[in-house]
Amino acid sequence: MIMPQESLIVEAVPVLGDNYVWMFASNNKEYVAVDPGEATAVSQWLDRLGASLSHILLTHHHNDHTGGVADLKRRYGAKIIGSKADAQRLPPLDHAVKEGDILNVGECQVQIIETPGHTMGHVIYKVGDALFVGDTLFSMGCGRLFEGSPEVMWQSLQKIQTLPDATKIYPAHEYTLTNHGFALMLEPDNQDLLALQKELLIKNDNDTPTLPTTLAAEKKLNPFLRTEDDQFAKKIGLQAKTPQERFAILREKRNHF
Ligand SMILES: [Zn+2]
Repeated sequence: MIMPQESLIVEAVPVLGDNYVWMFASNNKEYVAVDPGEATAVSQWLDRLGASLSHILLTHHHNDHTGGVADLKRRYGAKIIGSKADAQRLPPLDHAVKEGDILNVGECQVQIIETPGHTMGHVIYKVGDALFVGDTLFSMGCGRLFEGSPEVMWQSLQKIQTLPDATKIYPAHEYTLTNHGFALMLEPDNQDLLALQKELLIKNDNDTPTLPTTLAAEKKLNPFLRTEDDQFAKKIGLQAKTPQERFAILREKRNHF
């Protein structure tokens, strides 16, 4: 059984241009797919290993996260897990989950955390030291606010920050290079950001995933997790605003970046 602090082996199946379906083993011949936006690439990946699919974890209802579910369910009979609050607009669920639930998925313990903001029913999953964050948090960015207010999303990001710094963050999109550009535009002299630039460009040229990231790195680099940092706020001219107001302003700026 993979317990909360143990290291989980996770692999990426890239789909639909910039989405990742994250895969991890639930036992020695079956896997779990997180947010399979497409079925073919996931099936091919499993075929190469001679493996099957036992479960599907869904963070939210958007099609680029759920588009492959029906085909994968048909082929493998995988159990589908998603938010109880959003059950009406998700594919049919085998397990409807909510905040604080802990589910045994094969040999793994999966903890459910509700993170409304991108959508109101968005949930994320903690398995060992891995956190599957869907469209809530990205490397150096956060999800667009399609449904929640800035305050709601800010609270969700606060909740994530209470987890251990070593937590490995697995977002559903490869947005790192653009987010890095935005962070650097806000803070052109940030040495930590500048030090990353070359590595990110090389990975981008080679189509190499920049993920996972870690919570420690995000606390240092991600503008959306630094709204309580008064030094940072001063640099970007938002020192007079509350952390929630700073977050709302940054999110709005990012929409137009
Ligand atoms: Zn989405």
